[in-house]
Amino acid sequence: MSYYYQVIPLGQIHESLTYKFSKIIPVGSIVQIPLRRKTQGGVVLSQTTERQIKFDLKKILPIKSFYPHPLSKETIEFYQYLSVHYFIDLGMVYKMALQQYPTSDIKNYFSFSSKIYRSQKNLMEICKLTGKQWRELTSNQSIISTDRSFLFDKIVQSITLNEDQEKIFQNIWKKNNNFTTHLIDGVTGSGKTELYLKLIEENLKAGNQSLVLLPEIALTEEWSKRFQLYFGCEPFIWHSKQTKQQKSRILRSLLSGEPCVIVGARSAVLLPFQNLKLVVCDEEHDSSYKQEEGPRYHAKDMAIFKAKCNNAICTLVSASPSLESLYNLNNHKIISHQLVNQFHQTELPEIAVVDMNALKPGPRSWISKTIYDETIKVLKKQGQVLFFLNRRGYAPTKICANCHASIQCQNCAVNLVYHKKIDRLICHHCSSFYEPQQTCKMCSSDKFVSLGIGLERLQEEVDRLFPGYKSQLYSSDTLRTKKNKKDLIEDIFNQQTNLLVGSQIIGKSFHFPNLKLVNVIDGDSSLFSPDFRAMEKTYQLLQQVAGRSGREGERGKVFIQTYNPQHPIFQSIKNQNRNEFIQMELSRREQSQLPPYTKISQLQFIHPKSSELREICMEVLLISKKHQLSILGPTPSLIPYKKNHYQENFYFKEESYTSLRRKIDLLKSKMTPKNIRFLHIDIDPLSIA
Ligand SMILES: [Zn+2]
Ligand SMILES: [Zn+2]
Repeated sequence: MSYYYQVIPLGQIHESLTYKFSKIIPVGSIVQIPLRRKTQGGVVLSQTTERQIKFDLKKILPIKSFYPHPLSKETIEFYQYLSVHYFIDLGMVYKMALQQYPTSDIKNYFSFSSKIYRSQKNLMEICKLTGKQWRELTSNQSIISTDRSFLFDKIVQSITLNEDQEKIFQNIWKKNNNFTTHLIDGVTGSGKTELYLKLIEENLKAGNQSLVLLPEIALTEEWSKRFQLYFGCEPFIWHSKQTKQQKSRILRSLLSGEPCVIVGARSAVLLPFQNLKLVVCDEEHDSSYKQEEGPRYHAKDMAIFKAKCNNAICTLVSASPSLESLYNLNNHKIISHQLVNQFHQTELPEIAVVDMNALKPGPRSWISKTIYDETIKVLKKQGQVLFFLNRRGYAPTKICANCHASIQCQNCAVNLVYHKKIDRLICHHCSSFYEPQQTCKMCSSDKFVSLGIGLERLQEEVDRLFPGYKSQLYSSDTLRTKKNKKDLIEDIFNQQTNLLVGSQIIGKSFHFPNLKLVNVIDGDSSLFSPDFRAMEKTYQLLQQVAGRSGREGERGKVFIQTYNPQHPIFQSIKNQNRNEFIQMELSRREQSQLPPYTKISQLQFIHPKSSELREICMEVLLISKKHQLSILGPTPSLIPYKKNHYQENFYFKEESYTSLRRKIDLLKSKMTPKNIRFLHIDIDPLSIA
């Protein structure tokens, strides 16, 4: 007797295929199937009957094997939604989620008096067992092999909450919790993490699974240390560098419903949970949550949806919440909880704007007299100073001294950035390296001058202005390796470094108690970008950087250099009036019909030949006209030629996701199938530049 199943293979395929098996397999099972003469993974989506099958039954191949713990119906619903919402092939969604599905060769841990140990050696060491005792205890089944892997036993340091935290905790955590979304909104140092660690503790005690999302993998390590301090064991850490064995083990635990806590960046939101009751999205405003390469999805939005599918609590956490979240507070989709800084009793830093029109420094100089004077004051009192600039390299452009032509990347239509330390020109878009000695393509001159300022050049000026003090550069270039990063960070804590020259990366997570002054060199850098979120990002960035100053006991200072001191954004920051900024920005978005008031999708066509790309654009325009789709575009990308490919962008701007989907589906159905291959759909793009 054969049973028939619809199976979605893990891969670039949208429709499920029919397979058979001699036994009943539950829906949601992960199976091994033969496909194109290979064996690969798939997931059973439904059972089907002989009568429903419209082709020769004899041609249907058998499923080879199946994994005993199937995906929950909530998980299947979640993947279905992800596929529909973001226009990602269903098979691709499953592939992204289950690339490393559990197999039978996972080594078991050992269980002894209700505790779990990683290995025989580990158990014998901790329990001080002799070889003889080990043999006895295994033969009488006191020590058994277990498929559980989460090493939590009991809290080793209790999480104590202050009155404010306790109140919020009680508000969020209730018996028989149902899906609700909360925003924990509080400045750095207000105890947001302890508050949600308490939620995790309760959830773990209740026998449930928790998911914690962080914007970057680099942050999971520090987080894990903090977790261990209270819970006495490591959380499950999910990232691409884990071994196959580690990933399989985590998936096995998740699917078997073992109570556990998993922390990871973006992709962790895709994991198949069995018993998920708490989702935390820390630094919820961070744009890293948006996947920008390959299949595009927004991990924060999906975290909320995942919590909804699983009827779990969703907690968003931030010191500078996203405009979307703040907008949703007004709609009552999110419940807000404010935490004030109680631990350090530190006042917010004093923020001042430096008008560069009046205080412009001399040629080839970027540091104003005001900042110079303040820096000297702090240095004399042994304080540390951060010079903040969000631009890597030495100078953003090198131009020909003779004809002023710039040097561009051969693969992309962008200027090359000079990196002095390694003496190379680098394309920041395709990472190609070029020799510094170039000949001008326009006039054959070999004399070039550096234009503008990058971090390396800023450091040169800092060293020139403050001799005798040690400066150090902190950017994604210098913090690349773990060892480097550790040394550089230690230098700050040990007061080896007086002057920090850093980019966005430093604004993210590090806490430096002796940092007394933050100087923002180019406050205007993202103000005039065509990106509609530029204001919001500038505000969040400045707020975060400002939060780095004066953390323990003493009030810090922040100076922002700008050529637009009257710009409302600087006024709001200076007055530390976030509400004023939010109201202003929301009304601007409403007037221009931008998110969160509308839903936007970007349809990007990427093609190696510009003539064929033009034909595709013509086709899109014709379809749009005929079916009244009112598509916007095409507009060339900000970088129209990138990695040897041309790009053109179209947009839909609609009132709801439903109408977005309807229009995209209609457009796709009318397009020549071969042209669809060049289409990349981005729902809720980060920018529409
Ligand atoms: Zn030239
Ligand atoms: Zn390039």
